[in-house]
Amino acid sequence: MRMQDGALDCDIKLCNSLCCRNCAVLTRDEVSELIANIRNEYALELDPRKYFRLAKGEHGIYYAMKMIKGRCIFLNKENRCRIYKCRPALCELYPVIDVDAVDERCPIVNKLPGEKIDSLKRQYAEKIDEMIQKEEKFLFV
Ligand code: SF4
Ligand code: SF4
Repeated sequence: MRMQDGALDCDIKLCNSLCCRNCAVLTRDEVSELIANIRNEYALELDPRKYFRLAKGEHGIYYAMKMIKGRCIFLNKENRCRIYKCRPALCELYPVIDVDAVDERCPIVNKLPGEKIDSLKRQYAEKIDEMIQKEEKFLFV
């Protein structure tokens, strides 16, 4: 959910933070970095086994944030992100959800200038390239 830093002018009463109902995926390095950032920023010590699960990518393994009843484990009762200052890159890039796709259900999509969407898509593509390079390979499963 994008409201708290004012980067996007979201009204979460309209969408109930729809963007936090998808499972963001991270590489192993990103999980480690996220845990360290949350420790520094929020003085919280997360047990990665409680907050992440293994997720199979096309060619290897990623780590997905756990969901509880269809909501990201970091979303609080007020539909705000508990770790907003440290949220993963894929959360920051929403409403872009693929290299050439936006989530049309997000109410802010139609209000964003085309250049902003294009810029988010470019960043998304770069991010995915980076993740593929860091993907953990299957070991002859
Ligand atoms: S779903 Fe869209 S409008 Fe709602 S918080 Fe997320 S980015 Fe903002
Ligand atoms: S980490 Fe935060 S911004 Fe990302 S999906 Fe979870 S609650 Fe939403």
